[in-house]
Amino acid sequence: MELTVVGSVAIDSIETPVARRENILGGSASFASYAASFFVPVQLVGVVGDDWLPEHTNIFKEHNIDVAGLEIEKNGKTFRWTGKYLQNMNERETLDVQLNVLGKFKPKLPESYRKTKYLFIGNGDPATGLEALSQIDKPELVVADTMDLWINIARENLDKLIRNIDGLVLNDSEARDLTGKLNTLEAGRTILEWGPKFVVIKKGEHGAVFLSKNEIYVVPAFPTEKVVDPTGAGDSFAGAMFAYIVAQNGKLDENTIKNALVYGTLIASFCVEGFSLESLQKLDLNAINARREQFKKIASF
Ligand code: AMP
Repeated sequence: MELTVVGSVAIDSIETPVARRENILGGSASFASYAASFFVPVQLVGVVGDDWLPEHTNIFKEHNIDVAGLEIEKNGKTFRWTGKYLQNMNERETLDVQLNVLGKFKPKLPESYRKTKYLFIGNGDPATGLEALSQIDKPELVVADTMDLWINIARENLDKLIRNIDGLVLNDSEARDLTGKLNTLEAGRTILEWGPKFVVIKKGEHGAVFLSKNEIYVVPAFPTEKVVDPTGAGDSFAGAMFAYIVAQNGKLDENTIKNALVYGTLIASFCVEGFSLESLQKLDLNAINARREQFKKIASF
C-alpha cells in the first residue's frame, strides 16, 4: 500500500545562530515523503524548475519514493524559501519566499497514482491539495498539514480542504490562529467540528497532542541535544506518523495511533540533527528502533 504525498519541493537557504547553508534540498513534500518512506512506498507529487539538480531526484528515488509525479518545468525556477532561526532555535523568521513554479502549480497525478488510498497534503496552497484530492478515485484516509501563511491568505480554500480531510496536523499557534481559541484542546475540538476525524497539534520541543471525538493522547518530544536545523521537523513528523498508520492498513486504533505519534516524533528528532535531509539519509530502521527503546524508558511511568 502506497502513500501519495503532495506539497512543496524547494530549494532552501537556512541561517541558524551557528551556521548558514545555501541552496539545499527542502520543501514540505520532500521532508514528508522521505520520512514516510521509512515505512511505506511513497508517490511524490510536486513541481521543480530548471535549476533543480538531478542528484536531488536521486535522493528520493534511492529511498522508495516514486518520482513520476515530480514535474520539471523547463521554463522556470524551483520554489525558494529562506529562513532564519532565532537564538532559541524554536522560532524562525521567513526572510524570503520566491514561489516561482509553485505559484502556478496545478498537480496532474500520473494514472498510476489515481487509485491511491492514502493521500498526505503537505504544507502548501490549499488549492493544490484540493486539486490533487479531486483526482483520486476513492481515498480512504487523507491527512493535511498547513501553516500561518495559508490561514492568512487562502482561508476559503483551506476551510474547504479541512471539510474534506480525515486528519489535520498543525502547530499550536496555527491552531489558535485558525480557530480563535487560545486553549489547545478547545482549538482542536473546534477543528473536529468542521469535519476531520482527528487533529494533531504539534508543540515543537514540547511534543504533540492527538485529539479525536473520544480520544486524547499526548507524546513528548524526544529530547535531543544536537539541534542543527529544525527545518522540516513538522513535515517529517506528519509524514512518518501518517505512513505508520498506512503501514497498518489505515487502522486508527489506540495502539496504532500511539505508535504513529512515537515514530513521527522519532523521525522528527533525527531530522533536526542535520540540515536538509542529511540526517535522515544516514538513518535506518535499526537506529530508529534503538531510539524508540530510549524513548520508551524516558516517557513511560
Ligand atoms: P517545517 O519546518 O516542517 O515547517 O517545513 C519547512 C519547509 O517548508 C521548508 O523546507 C520550506 O521550503 C517549506 N515551506 C516554507 N514556506 C512554505 C510555504 N509557504 N508553502 C509551502 N512550503 C513552504
